Amino acid sequence: MTSLDPRSLIAMGGFMALVMGIVLGSMRRYYPPSILGLGYWALTPVAWLITAGLFAYAGDWLDTRRLVGNGFLIGGFVLFHIGCRRFFGQATAWQVFLPAWALLMLALGWFSWAGPSYPIRAALVTTAIAGVHCATLWFLWRHGNHNFPVRMVQVTVAAHLAVLLFRLQSLFQADAVPDLMIASAVETYYLGAYVLAVLLLSIGAVLMATDRVRTELEHMATHDGLTGTLNRRAILDRCEEEHERSLRYGQPFALMMVDLDHFKAVNDTHGHQHGDRVLVHFAECARAALRRADRLGRYGGEEFLALLPGTTLEAAQPVAARIHAALQAGHPLDCQLSIGATAWRGPGDSLDAMLARADAALYQAKAQGRNQTCTA
Ligand code: GH3
Ligand code: MG
Ligand code: MG
Repeated sequence: MTSLDPRSLIAMGGFMALVMGIVLGSMRRYYPPSILGLGYWALTPVAWLITAGLFAYAGDWLDTRRLVGNGFLIGGFVLFHIGCRRFFGQATAWQVFLPAWALLMLALGWFSWAGPSYPIRAALVTTAIAGVHCATLWFLWRHGNHNFPVRMVQVTVAAHLAVLLFRLQSLFQADAVPDLMIASAVETYYLGAYVLAVLLLSIGAVLMATDRVRTELEHMATHDGLTGTLNRRAILDRCEEEHERSLRYGQPFALMMVDLDHFKAVNDTHGHQHGDRVLVHFAECARAALRRADRLGRYGGEEFLALLPGTTLEAAQPVAARIHAALQAGHPLDCQLSIGATAWRGPGDSLDAMLARADAALYQAKAQGRNQTCTA
């Protein structure tokens, strides 16, 4: 293959880094602070931009600017790795990377001035980047999720790793070029892959962060901010889906309308904040008492709606009993509650009719003295 001019490739890498640095920097500024890791990801292209600048003005491989440039190059990959760690809520691991980086710089200095060897120095740089890549791959395998942005980063890192290993073995071949700046096929692959890595890893970071924001917004739009249960619209959507499923497959489902007893008195006696804590405690206990497939949503102030797929009215009773029991376990935030339960009666039964029945059953439970479940 024809080889490309190394300085042009390095300049291209610098240009990519500049653009992606601006993009990631502005994301760091405007995205919610709950998206961790963006700071490190924004610093990654900055390190690579410095690398490009130092290489652009450097002379032969013994020029100190080349040595420092390599430091920033490897530092950029470390920053990217640490950004991934933070993004998935893990510690930074600087205590490993900083000493390793310092040791590597010492070794690079040694093979520049004490016992100069271009292939050994280039091999050290290549191995260091490959090592950081392995750490990133391992980390994303262990802690990452499996959506498209993470997959894209994994594939980019793996492909770059392959090019690095190819370059590593070629450094010691008899026909190896004695300097990166001399155009050759291998170094064209190496620099070209680096330019692509700069671009694709940055885009991967952008996509990962954007996907996280979307997930957070989706969660906010469908969940209650205080109790973490589904909100009214979301639980009603789930009920409608379940109703459709029942119409199609004839499988029953149950609904439970749950209302805390004398909750106004709880607020009046202990304050609104205490009331909030009781609501949170209720939601936790109720979720624990429900089964995996069941859904709980906040229907109104202190009124909750539980959806129990594939459940008859008889089968719903022990679940209701578990909720009562869970809130009477002796916790200081325990409360009493009333439940109105109903189940789907067949193709003629609408969701509205079911909700009205659950409501009526709840009213009956209240009228009969509260702290009980009635069915309809
Ligand atoms: P009942 O046994 O008949 O259900 O009596 P109740 O006092 O629970 O019923 P009522 O509907 O009269 O009162 C509900 C109270 O719930 C009134 C309202 O201030 C309170 N509430 C609604 N939403 C919240 C909330 O988010 N936090 C707190 N602390 N209180 C809330
Ligand atoms: Mg109430
Ligand atoms: Mg109420």
